[in-house]
Amino acid sequence: MAAVMVYIIAAVINWAYRSWERLGYSLVLFVLFMMAGMLASAVLYFTYPVLTSIEIAAAINSATMTLGLVAILYSFITYKGKGKVDPPATGKSNLSIQLFRGSVIMLALLNEVLMGWAFSLISGISKHAFLTTSSLITLLDLAVNSYWFTFTMGSEMMLTLYYFRKRLPGEMKFMLLFQALIMLLAPPALAIWGISTAAVYAGSVAMIVLFIFIFDFFYKNRAPTVASSDYVIRLMGIYALMMASLLYWNLGRSAFFFGITLLVEMVIFFDAVMRSGERRSTAKRQWQNHPWWTFSLLVLLFICEYFMAAAIDVVYYGVSFFGDIAVTTLSGKPLVIFIGALFDFVQYFGAVTSSSWFYIMMGAEMGTLVAFQIRKVRELETKVRLALVIAAYGIYSVFLPFFFFPSSRLPHLPFIGWSMGVGTSGPLAPALLVAIGATYLISGSLAYLFGGRQVCSLFCTASLMYQGTFYDSTKSFNRSGFLARKTHGNRLGKVFVITASLVWSSVFAAVLISYLDSIHLIDLYVFGVDPIMFAYTFYFSFLWYVIFVTIPFVGNYGCVTTGICHWGMFNQFIGWLGIFRLRVKDRYECVNCKSKACATVCPVGLTSMPGQFIAAGEFKNYKCIGVGQCVSACPVENIFFYDARQWFRERMGKSKPQTQPGALPVAPRGGNKE
Ligand code: SF4
Ligand code: SF4
Repeated sequence: MAAVMVYIIAAVINWAYRSWERLGYSLVLFVLFMMAGMLASAVLYFTYPVLTSIEIAAAINSATMTLGLVAILYSFITYKGKGKVDPPATGKSNLSIQLFRGSVIMLALLNEVLMGWAFSLISGISKHAFLTTSSLITLLDLAVNSYWFTFTMGSEMMLTLYYFRKRLPGEMKFMLLFQALIMLLAPPALAIWGISTAAVYAGSVAMIVLFIFIFDFFYKNRAPTVASSDYVIRLMGIYALMMASLLYWNLGRSAFFFGITLLVEMVIFFDAVMRSGERRSTAKRQWQNHPWWTFSLLVLLFICEYFMAAAIDVVYYGVSFFGDIAVTTLSGKPLVIFIGALFDFVQYFGAVTSSSWFYIMMGAEMGTLVAFQIRKVRELETKVRLALVIAAYGIYSVFLPFFFFPSSRLPHLPFIGWSMGVGTSGPLAPALLVAIGATYLISGSLAYLFGGRQVCSLFCTASLMYQGTFYDSTKSFNRSGFLARKTHGNRLGKVFVITASLVWSSVFAAVLISYLDSIHLIDLYVFGVDPIMFAYTFYFSFLWYVIFVTIPFVGNYGCVTTGICHWGMFNQFIGWLGIFRLRVKDRYECVNCKSKACATVCPVGLTSMPGQFIAAGEFKNYKCIGVGQCVSACPVENIFFYDARQWFRERMGKSKPQTQPGALPVAPRGGNKE
């Protein structure tokens, strides 16, 4: 019976889409009202199985049918036979159509909730809970978070998609399909079979695939339809709330909020389906010209990812995951409470963003985008580097620290446990000085030989985040973002100098205090937390992500250009002193070059390459992180990386210098080298 009802509702929604006349409206609404009446009767009878219930149910049904028939009769009498014109296609999407479609969606929703309630009672699922509660909130919670709701809803979404398959654009079909899939995997509904944990994992995988699709879609379509882009924002908005409510439920609280998000999600689904074909849906939006739209997308996706990772953390580690976080007691003077609340916020934020599941999830998403980028780039060197970026992220951030080594030994290994040169695993104890010194020595030597790129475009997790296809395309904001305009460029601007000074002095102070604490000379902590551990959390598990989601205003690779990362600065500085630089094979090519493409693609906004190539045959800049997009962009493949490899080959006489620094020789008559 549930299957028949699912079929009827999907068919009626399809029918409602085509209805443009009062007669059609009346018929559609009549069917939905009638079904709601029947289901409400079933709920009534199975709650109070007495004769009076049957009588009341019969009265309800008679009333709905009579009212519906009167409406149909009236519509029939006044029917003028307007011919088959599809209103949305001709732009006649007027208020009455919107109201009608809104009513259809709300009635379909009511039917689904009643179906969840009625069939749960009939099949005995949570029957006792249904019969013993008098709270409407609990009833709604039980009805919506039952598989009788999610399964019927998910099937109905799939069937509706089938009906609308020819009217929906490809990207909408994919996203709506995943929406249906995610509905079918709603964990609270599956808890009754003891598979809610599996559902959390499976739902997360489905969501990650959806996110990758969204990123890739907007990368390939810089001017998508307004309908598709608005739908994505709405969907991400409700998914952000859904993931937050999933976490709430996983913490042992009510699933009510999760149920509410399922209902809203369903409204978004049917609204998107029924709007297909409207004139507005074909209007385009160039998202690279809409920073607020892009910011909404990035921030909502991030919130989804954050809560999804937090929910998995709780499933995997138990509720103690949050219990173990050092937070304040939030008492005392208002200012102390306020500062304490900010501290707690950073601590909760950082605990999730530095958890293994967050890394794994982000790695899966961003790693796939980097794999897409590998397919796109031309040079073998960049392909290899991007493959190493994925491998480094996996080994350095996820695999080694969390699964392989016993944590007590971590801090003693250079790099591991001392991420970003400040430390993640504990206070700065004297026993760790060797590991820290080794970290600086290894990293500094690599930076001297190969440039700051060994960190900023390879080992650092940020490399994976910024170098995937979609995030690379956000560098268009480097020219428009209000902060990006100040921070992207060849010079180290005021913002950089101020931030860098604050960052270095705070890190240095935190390191010093942490050390003095650990040798018991002083006793100074940030709300009980070691200062260097808090500094790490603040800079790399909190502020870094703030910079990341504000790309439309801060620009691409904000960590490099704003000076918030002392570790990047250290490596870039040594790299700048070292061997690494960009060189051109033929400086005359740059003289004659019309595109100057190398100057337009740099993610950190370096634009002076052509001038420096012409003047000196090479380019060197403190901010250059060797991502190599200028190398890919040069139409005549003129640029190459110069680092320790070439330097040694030249010294060993195995290759001649490919470019000659110094003044450009006078070109022969005719203006070029020939
Ligand atoms: S600046 Fe820091 S966070 Fe950014 S890529 Fe470089 S090392 Fe990583
Ligand atoms: S490096 Fe290539 S793109 Fe840049 S100025 Fe020279 S020829 Fe043009």
